[in-house]
Amino acid sequence: DALAILPPTRTLCPYCGVGCGLEAVASPQKSAVQSHNSYKIRGDRQHPSSQGMVCVKGATVMESMDKQRLLYPMFRSSLDQPLQRISWEKALEIIVDKIQQVKQTLGVSGLCMYASGQMQTEDYYIAQKLFKGCLGTNNFDTNSRLCMSSAVSAYGLSFGSDGPPCCYEDLELTDCAFLIGTNTADCHPIIFNRLRKHHKQNPHVKLIVVDPRCTATAEVADLHLAINPGTDISLLHGIAYLLKKWNLIDQKFIDNHTQDFEQYCQVISHYPPDKVTQICGISLEQLETAARYWGNARTVLSLWSMGLNQSSQGTAKGRCLINLHLLTGQIGKPGSGPFSLTGQPNAMGGREAGGLSHLLPGYRSIQNAQHRQEVEQLWQIPLGRIDAQPGLSAWEMFMALENQQVGLLWIVATNPVVSMPDLERVKNALRQSTFTIHQDAYFPTETAAYAHLVLPAAQWSEKTGTMTNSERRVTLSRAFRSPPGEARPDWEIFAEVGRRLGFEEQFNFSDSAAVHSEYVQLTAGRLCDQSGISYGALERFGPLQWPCPSAEHEKEVSSPKRLYTDHKFCTETGRANFCLDHSQGLAEPVDPDYPFVLTNGRLYGHWHTQTRTGHIEKIKKMHPKPILEMHPRDAEKLGIKSQDLVAIKSRRGTAQLEVLVTKAIAPGTVFMPMHWGFLWQNNAEVNSLTHPIACPISKQPELKACAVSVTPI
Ligand code: SF4
Repeated sequence: DALAILPPTRTLCPYCGVGCGLEAVASPQKSAVQSHNSYKIRGDRQHPSSQGMVCVKGATVMESMDKQRLLYPMFRSSLDQPLQRISWEKALEIIVDKIQQVKQTLGVSGLCMYASGQMQTEDYYIAQKLFKGCLGTNNFDTNSRLCMSSAVSAYGLSFGSDGPPCCYEDLELTDCAFLIGTNTADCHPIIFNRLRKHHKQNPHVKLIVVDPRCTATAEVADLHLAINPGTDISLLHGIAYLLKKWNLIDQKFIDNHTQDFEQYCQVISHYPPDKVTQICGISLEQLETAARYWGNARTVLSLWSMGLNQSSQGTAKGRCLINLHLLTGQIGKPGSGPFSLTGQPNAMGGREAGGLSHLLPGYRSIQNAQHRQEVEQLWQIPLGRIDAQPGLSAWEMFMALENQQVGLLWIVATNPVVSMPDLERVKNALRQSTFTIHQDAYFPTETAAYAHLVLPAAQWSEKTGTMTNSERRVTLSRAFRSPPGEARPDWEIFAEVGRRLGFEEQFNFSDSAAVHSEYVQLTAGRLCDQSGISYGALERFGPLQWPCPSAEHEKEVSSPKRLYTDHKFCTETGRANFCLDHSQGLAEPVDPDYPFVLTNGRLYGHWHTQTRTGHIEKIKKMHPKPILEMHPRDAEKLGIKSQDLVAIKSRRGTAQLEVLVTKAIAPGTVFMPMHWGFLWQNNAEVNSLTHPIACPISKQPELKACAVSVTPI
């Protein structure tokens, strides 16, 4: 009974970038083994981002904690042998020897780490220090490259710095929400709940959804623009054309706070309504309605995610959306601004800690000499140790395996053998790898099948650390149970390797609080200033939003914070830049051999490659199998009915799926969910079909569209 009155542990949902607060309540029957049954999970009503709400993933997360866990290190010298249990001592010895050997043969550029937005900020930070600082290679990238690196580049080029300028309260303060490339209802459910409630209660509030598919988000929109895939920039420039023509622009804002407006006017002059409606496949009335809703609204909030980011023009798409905010002065005030939604729970914290191959902690750039020096000084490493060139991005790492340029690939908390594009090529590259480490909480996984060494990682509920959600809010995620078997927190594994490589002083941390305290020093004075955020402050005040130069400051200013309220941007001139790019369409357009555009996305219940949600009965019942959505007109032409089995073929591979004939998808486009790897269902991997052609700036692949054929089996 005493256990029944223990206070709940306040923590954070480890799934998506919404970052909902959770409470773990110990059950009175709590057993010594602390199985998932020992805790009940509920929403944390005091968490400002979610106010007690949770979706099915957050509510059931505890059920996935004890299923198929990796309990101890295992090793094999070649992939045709079975993995055998070894001690941590032996595993660490193998890693250190291998790193020394690769340094001598290929140089430090032969060392790569491919990590994850599932890691806590402390894990990210120590990995940066090990790879970029101590080893001297920038070959550290994460699955965030597949998720939101285009949003990072878009903010950086338009505003002079990364950083979403909005907050969740804007969802309830806006007069017009413009959602493009985001199925928010399924992928960011609690954000959508807040927006939907506001929309329902305020008839004057307009909801515009741009998506080739009639999703759960689009179903409740005032205006659904089912544009042809890849035509987003034409649509955005077409709206700008009308706003300018109707003089629904904010000339004072443009004159005082932007640059390149004249050139921008030249660009949009090429997007008159008749041309745009034809390119996008929408009516003139729809285009004009969208422009009117935007132009006449007191405040406009735009939301976007992978539908824009995962594109060969991902950066330009994000920037062209930002253009509309600059044109109408819709930024830096309540209810307005361009708001990118991050996919993973700590993709934001990763950006802040420098977790992409071109970044350093505190929103610093690898290519900036002063930035490198500032980091080298704090890390107490020789000046000049950090390489001045960006390291390999995610796709480049796997391709470097093909050329034997990589001697060690360390994959952490991600499952690229399901999530990378052009999977057959990725699997072939991994077969050629001489040494692959997979550090993860779960086993087996599709990626572990290609690993020489697997390392058991502690995960949510078993380690304490911080995460930043989409609205820049940092939450302390507390441990409340022990890791199973010999699993360890990721940062402890990296630090142990660092010490064994001779960097005792750099990795002398007693706990994750000490790691965090060093990390936040590197954010002081930067846009993402978190120097006022400590574990103590998070305990005292709860989740804190940055910029937060002192916790006292946060306490006094309790209203939600937005960036750029003074309209001074981080560029050299203090003015925001208009983007002048034109639309280039899809990287792989359809042709007679591959006549359909295949698009893909998440389902409401599942998370990424199912390492967690695949073990939750309630979610498995919601989504028992992957299904291909096809429009009735296309299905009729091919003689296909619902539940028929079809072969989907692209230039890179094939898949076989059941069909659902539905008007939810536009003619000429087919939709497939992204969650099924070969461990869950044979031949249903969407990424055996997708291509790796990427945005040249963000290096984010165009996962959202490729050309396919569909034939009945
Ligand atoms: Fe977790 Fe995201 Fe669902 Fe919130 S919306 S409970 S963060 S999965």
